[in-house]
Amino acid sequence: MVGTEYDHRGSVANLPIAVGVGRFAAELPADAARLRGETVEARAMTTRPLQRLRLEVRGAVQGVGFRPYVFRLAEELDLAGWVSNDQRGVTLEVEGPADHLEAFLARFPDELPPRAVVHSFEPSWLVPAELSGFAIRRSDQAGAKSAVILPDIATCGDCLAELFDPADRRYLYPFTNCTNCGPRFSFILELPYDRSRTTMADFELCPDCAREYADPRDRRFHAQPDACPRCGPQLSLDDSSGETLAVAGEALEAAVMALAAGRIVAVKGLGGFHLMVDAGDEAAVRRLRRRKGRYEKPLALMVADLEAARRLCTVDPWAARELTSPEAPIVLLPARTEVGRGGGVAAAVAPGNPFLGVMLPSTPLHHLLLRRLGIPLVATSGNLSDEPICTGNGEARERLAAIADLFLVHDRQIARHVDDSVVAFVDGGRLPIRRARGFAPLPVQLAEGGDGAGGGEAILAVGAHLKNVVALSLGRRVFLSQHIGDMETVEAHAAFEQVIGDFLRLYEATPGVIAHDLHADYLSTRWAREAVAGEGARPEWERALRGRRLIAVQHHHAHLASCLADNGVEGRALGVIWDGTGMGTDGTVWGGEFLLGEAAGFERVASLRPFPLLGGEAAVRQPRRVALALLWDLYGEGGWEKLPAGLFASRERTPFERMLDRGLQSPMTTSAGRLFDGVAALLGLRREVSFEGQAAMELEFLAGAASGTADRSPYPLDLVESTGRPGAACQLDWRAMVEAVVEEVRRGIAASTIAARFHATLAEAICSLAGRIGESRVPLSGGCFQNRRLTELCCRRLRRAGFEVLLHRQGPPNDGGISLGQVAVARARLRAENNQKIGR
Ligand code: ZN
Ligand code: ZN
Ligand code: FE
Repeated sequence: MVGTEYDHRGSVANLPIAVGVGRFAAELPADAARLRGETVEARAMTTRPLQRLRLEVRGAVQGVGFRPYVFRLAEELDLAGWVSNDQRGVTLEVEGPADHLEAFLARFPDELPPRAVVHSFEPSWLVPAELSGFAIRRSDQAGAKSAVILPDIATCGDCLAELFDPADRRYLYPFTNCTNCGPRFSFILELPYDRSRTTMADFELCPDCAREYADPRDRRFHAQPDACPRCGPQLSLDDSSGETLAVAGEALEAAVMALAAGRIVAVKGLGGFHLMVDAGDEAAVRRLRRRKGRYEKPLALMVADLEAARRLCTVDPWAARELTSPEAPIVLLPARTEVGRGGGVAAAVAPGNPFLGVMLPSTPLHHLLLRRLGIPLVATSGNLSDEPICTGNGEARERLAAIADLFLVHDRQIARHVDDSVVAFVDGGRLPIRRARGFAPLPVQLAEGGDGAGGGEAILAVGAHLKNVVALSLGRRVFLSQHIGDMETVEAHAAFEQVIGDFLRLYEATPGVIAHDLHADYLSTRWAREAVAGEGARPEWERALRGRRLIAVQHHHAHLASCLADNGVEGRALGVIWDGTGMGTDGTVWGGEFLLGEAAGFERVASLRPFPLLGGEAAVRQPRRVALALLWDLYGEGGWEKLPAGLFASRERTPFERMLDRGLQSPMTTSAGRLFDGVAALLGLRREVSFEGQAAMELEFLAGAASGTADRSPYPLDLVESTGRPGAACQLDWRAMVEAVVEEVRRGIAASTIAARFHATLAEAICSLAGRIGESRVPLSGGCFQNRRLTELCCRRLRRAGFEVLLHRQGPPNDGGISLGQVAVARARLRAENNQKIGR
């Protein structure tokens, strides 16, 4: 069974079994069959005029207008009964003549509200109770909390129409929403989902809103975040001292003026602040970069609508669908013209990048700003580089004081930070790069594996070090947190703890097991160890973790298990796991791995030929060090002569030689990410980088710039049997390839051609290794598989050779996907132990 979740657009094509209704996850057929069977049985069984049917519905069914939907359907069919939210989903009873109930069952799955996803529903037939009328009952608070909390949903078409309709009472009101859109995850304080347990609790509905809220025929029936200009949140424009300069419409107008004049405005959105600035204003964008300390990483853009996106980028039908989806993520799109050369976008937005990260407005406030301005805005996270996004008004003023000129804020609190999500188009589908707004905290449903053995215990997985995401499994569902970020700052660490506490509180879970990375120095690992040791002063929820069991999971094994879980697949596969770095089971730094196995275990069947990381972390920031290490391996001292001029100063030679000779501060690595860096440096692309993966990204773009007639054939790359290295049976020896690269650079071959051939070489090597191992299923995971060129080349070659390729579709291939894999591995281990115990 596949774990496809929450597929509101009904892309049935992705499911292995085509289910009648796209919005139903694949669990439906079994239930539907059972349901049909029982209907028939029930009909045969009784001739009583009345029947009573109870349904327990599980899935994303709260906050989507589910109860009013049931109400309307029951009313239409003249059925009595009730419906109620509970901790696990929705429960309902309908009573009436058999043919009416049959009609109910027939229509129920077909006419679901647009945002609902049903994972399963349990029908049972009860003795009729002569119910009268149909009631929407108060939420039932009994039972375990496992209801799916919906992510925030971008403004729907109906609300958008009202927003710009002068006759509507919500005309230009920036907090308009309804049952089909608006805040969810970012404003829910507690389950079950009810207004009193959201950050809207303090806003009392005005008579008009109260009437809509109580009317089951209204689009806003029980819309918990409902608001209007009379009773809802209000805008204000503040300066950095907290002084309010303008409110409501005037605040918006003043913010628009400031943005048009090139000022930087911090704008409070759904799940946090954005820093916004005119994307066409080179000086303003540079000022933002300088103040934020983010020098080269591309900045995201927000544009008014699809047309505006089309003016900047090539928007194919897939991209159009992503942009206008309720998730409204940042979509990486090919820029129409070179960034900075016309088109209204300053070069500083995405220096040297042929792609732009573009999103459409996801709230009425953003719609109002963008329409009024009519120009693309830079909309980057409201934070200092690498810190988590700001959510509170006071916090933003404090932390962003040195960045933003003005603060456009409002008085609806943000319950928890949720960044914008980022997606790319790879191999015909969505590849998540960052999973947050619109997606978090939707669960990934694990493949069958029994809820008893190992499935019963809640598992908390604390993720990796970079791009941290935590995960909590309840039964087969793995709830993935929003993107937390790199655990490099005190703020990020605080956010990490906060998210864990928040998750455990929301789901009232006390995990029996904490899964963490094998790397002892990751802050996430340290936190897990300290939590179970229970030392020092810590909050109560953390003390509850004392004495719990720890399970360490090897980093690349977690990548493999994550990709399998993401695809709802169990069983053996050959994982090609290529990334920056991760601690290996042998204590060396892995990163170019071929792991044969599954969640339960793996064998390292091959990896790249290891090379030294000169100076450890320093080699990540300086690709030139990798270039040197590669050439030293090939030519010894003669390597210096083969390096491109200017990579090293002559006085640097002695200290580096000492490091190389003695292996000082130079752990050995098989990192594929670093191999990309090294080759980028050999092509003269980068001496140093300002963010991880930058050089590799530029190498990919360079390959894309190769002329149509350029040579794209692979260089030689040897697969050699292991020379006594424990664990890995085979080595991908890159030396012949690097030699060829050096030779072509010397001959003056275009760097773009070399870059294209380099990509082809790696894809070819992966394919021939897969051929040698002979395992038919090949998941591709790790940060390197964000590289679209590498990934698509691999997909094409592997499929042609008869392999089944798995890519990440629900979570990211980078370290944001690690916690999902950690859960899967821990679960498999518990299951194996359990089976052993009961002697299977
Ligand atoms: Zn709406
Ligand atoms: Zn109102
Ligand atoms: Fe990784």
